[in-house]
Amino acid sequence: MSRDFLANIRDEYDVIVIGSGLAGLTAANLLGRAGRSVLLLEQHYKLGGMATWFRRPRRHIFDISLHGFPVGMIKSCRKYWSTEIADSIVQLKNIRFDNPMFSLTTTFDRRDFSRLLVDQFHVDPLSVEQFFDVARQMNFYDDQTTTVRQLFDRCFPGREDVIRLLMEPITYANGSTLEDPAITYGIVFSNFMSKGVYIFEGGTDHLITLMERELRHNHVDIAIRCEVNGIEVERGGVSGVRVGNRVIRTRSVVSNANLLGTIFGMVGEQHFDAAFVEQARAVRLNTSSTQVYMALREGDEIDESTGDLLFSSTAPVFRTDLLLNRDVTSRTFSFYYPRTRPHGPRQYAIVSSTNAYFDDWANLTTEEYAASKQDLIDTTIDALEKYVPQARSRIAHVEAATPVTFQHYTKHVQGSSFGTKFEGLAVSRSLPEQVRGLFHAGSVGIIMSGWLGAINYGVIVANDVDSMLMKQSSSPLPKVAFP
Ligand SMILES: Cc1cc2nc3c(=O)[nH]c(=O)nc-3n(C[C@H](O)[C@H](O)[C@H](O)COP(=O)(O)OP(=O)(O)OC[C@H]3O[C@@H](n4cnc5c(N)ncnc54)[C@H](O)[C@@H]3O)c2cc1C
Repeated sequence: MSRDFLANIRDEYDVIVIGSGLAGLTAANLLGRAGRSVLLLEQHYKLGGMATWFRRPRRHIFDISLHGFPVGMIKSCRKYWSTEIADSIVQLKNIRFDNPMFSLTTTFDRRDFSRLLVDQFHVDPLSVEQFFDVARQMNFYDDQTTTVRQLFDRCFPGREDVIRLLMEPITYANGSTLEDPAITYGIVFSNFMSKGVYIFEGGTDHLITLMERELRHNHVDIAIRCEVNGIEVERGGVSGVRVGNRVIRTRSVVSNANLLGTIFGMVGEQHFDAAFVEQARAVRLNTSSTQVYMALREGDEIDESTGDLLFSSTAPVFRTDLLLNRDVTSRTFSFYYPRTRPHGPRQYAIVSSTNAYFDDWANLTTEEYAASKQDLIDTTIDALEKYVPQARSRIAHVEAATPVTFQHYTKHVQGSSFGTKFEGLAVSRSLPEQVRGLFHAGSVGIIMSGWLGAINYGVIVANDVDSMLMKQSSSPLPKVAFP
């Protein structure tokens, strides 16, 4: 007989959070901490969403999205999670670029980038200062028509090498392109540039374990393997969620699932007005990813000078279509040394990531799909051998993930790695105006995606939910300001 994962779940909650990505986890944690009754429903068998990991025999363990985030994570985790989590966030010091235009190593902060731009790229120091200031001052209310390409052409005309240095890592950080609004670039770039790139020491598995502990401490009920099939709407407001043939009642839902999947799948367009449906239909999804996971044989080692994050490319120029092409020319290698998991098995792992289109992988026959994956693995190891000599013979375990994999495990439409493009933010924010008590917190609009963006969005939405509930009850959430 199959297990009932809802066996101990009550019939009614103040809030139901659908999905345990970082935004869903954070919203649930804050609302639980404030004394709200909260149920967190996750369709997968573990929490974390894209912030996840997997294990393979011989104790190999691989992280999916632990490649780097801005320093702001420390403050957000301390305030909205725990000191223990915040204190485990450490800087990556060796960020490398290697492409036909330049090769360099940087700590990836404003000071070091300024040094590189002036000394190695011979850009006038005043132009560099001005560029950083312009990027830092950008905010959501700015002109949204200027594209990233136009911003660069204004600041560094004719300098494709400089554009590549400034843009390539951000493309990998959130899937944004030269055609996206400049503000999305400015905000994310400034976040990273404030103090460099950070990761969580202990691995994603440890982070999510600590988060789950915190959620339970705050009395959040958690049910895994529970896919929400529908959000019930009555008289213009949320009344419950459907899991299998059970309906759990609630006044408010925070969907951490894909924005379009929430609107058109779980709620149904009949509950929204026509103009909103049209606006939602126009929201573009971000692209997806492919990854190749590689672990070295026991006892073998990689010198740490190889780098922590390596943006490698054989493409002669930086172009969005080249980055997304199935004939991969650009890869980001993340190197995981034993210090990534100081208390875990002594492992050297490498994860190669590329941006990718879902359609390039979704419509293949089983044989074509397997062959394409094998080709991805083979060409990735070929590329890695430039940095890890004889890598092929040193690798004990290798496998690949594609956009189809990401869709399968997270239910993100088209396996989108970073939710939606910019216009998704306005749609996400206006959900409660359409259906009372319906909220969305999850990767949208580039700014609100990635680990930090998702956590911060969870905070904002937790505040919104609490404000709504406060009108009906008297136990407010301690004011949490947007970081
Ligand atoms: C390959 C890759 C590399 C990345 N690298 C980085 C990086 O280095 N740095 C960084 O900051 N970010 C990175 N990201 C992005 C980052 O991981 C995501 O932006 C962030 O984790 C998304 O969090 P989220 O809250 O939007 O939810 P998601 O992680 O998207 O989770 C949504 C959750 O909802 C659940 N769900 C969906 N539908 C249902 C349903 N009907 N019922 C119940 N549950 C449901 C899913 O199972 C999932 O757990 C990367 C992403 C990918 C794919």
